[in-house]
Amino acid sequence: MKNSNKLLYFILTGVVIGLICGWFFGTAMNSVAWMGTLFLNALKMLVVPLIISSLIVGVAGLGDVTKMGKTGGITIVYYMATTGISVILGLIFVNLLQPGVGVVLDAEAPEAANAKMDTTFVDILLSIVSPNLIRSMAEMDILPLIVFTLVFGSVLTTLGEKGRQVIGFFETVNEAIMKMVHLVLYLAPLGIFGLVASKLGAAGGGDAFFHELLKIGKFALTVLLALGVHAFVVLPLILWKFTGRNPWVYMRNTVEALATAFSTASSSATLPVTMECAEEENKVSRKMVQFVLPIGATVNMDGTALYEAVAAMFIAQMMGVDLSAMQQVVIFLTATLAAIGAAGIPEAGLVTMVIVLQSVGLPLDGIGMLLAIDWFLDRCRTTVNVWGDSVGVAVVDELEKKYVEGG
Ligand code: ASP
Repeated sequence: MKNSNKLLYFILTGVVIGLICGWFFGTAMNSVAWMGTLFLNALKMLVVPLIISSLIVGVAGLGDVTKMGKTGGITIVYYMATTGISVILGLIFVNLLQPGVGVVLDAEAPEAANAKMDTTFVDILLSIVSPNLIRSMAEMDILPLIVFTLVFGSVLTTLGEKGRQVIGFFETVNEAIMKMVHLVLYLAPLGIFGLVASKLGAAGGGDAFFHELLKIGKFALTVLLALGVHAFVVLPLILWKFTGRNPWVYMRNTVEALATAFSTASSSATLPVTMECAEEENKVSRKMVQFVLPIGATVNMDGTALYEAVAAMFIAQMMGVDLSAMQQVVIFLTATLAAIGAAGIPEAGLVTMVIVLQSVGLPLDGIGMLLAIDWFLDRCRTTVNVWGDSVGVAVVDELEKKYVEGG
């Protein structure tokens, strides 16, 4: 058996045993949390150097600024289109299934949501330029880092031989970091086991989880159904249509990233693995992996956008508020934008949901209802976020070859 195949089976075994142990042994599984933390920290350690070196090399690999503009344009259009489709899917399911009807609202807005009460789009806009890059790196605040690196990389390409030397340096850094990702992946089976078991255990094990799930079971079902259709029907169709690739083979080759996303609930922490799967397993061209994926992990969040739209509608149904078609268009727009603004970290979507709720005048207390089960749904939507990024890089790779490369 190939080494990567073995690793894949070990990782899947880690997920399954983690679920079983967390389910039956509950809080006792706290004792294995350190394995997960070690794996997660090792991934996070690589994220900042990986993003910086990948984007610099990626931008340089694209050639001139016009080509970067075209490829960037294709990437953004892809992200917006697929995110839009996922929100529409969410809206269709939530209107059909009406999960909020008859549910009693008995919760208060969590503090994190209240703290974000005054967040506006201007704040999101301002957050893309950092006054202190070191602090952004330390806090893993990725969006300003991407903006800085894109500009820095572009400027380097205009500096002739001197610029090429610096790019060469980052090429070596990038290669070294990718080798380190390889090493960290050996920790994945135990790390993923530790993360899944301890998280499910901390939520009180299987019985408590089941109990919480039942309380808003129809809501969870609506989210999972819509996520499922997006992940197993829409995205595979897009992949097949644009690239001719077999979606199931592509998905199988992405499983390491998907399992990491499920266990960490963080697209950013998963980025090293997503890049490794796209380049090594799915053979997507390196320059596209370097350019498209770091941006995708931060701004392309199909699962989060879908979730925010369904959650807002669920809260409206629970309150007996009948949202007009126009208000649902507002939800569509704000959910798409809020997902772009959400960081690739656990439960970031819950916080940016404040913007969606406020846009149609819904109370933040509704977020409290979702809190108990969010740790689980967060994992599911993060997995879809990473799957969307992975499909995106193959599609953009193909379109770039067709429309940008060579002219
Ligand atoms: N945890 C998600 C991610 O990292 C963001 C969210 O929806 O909370 O992709």
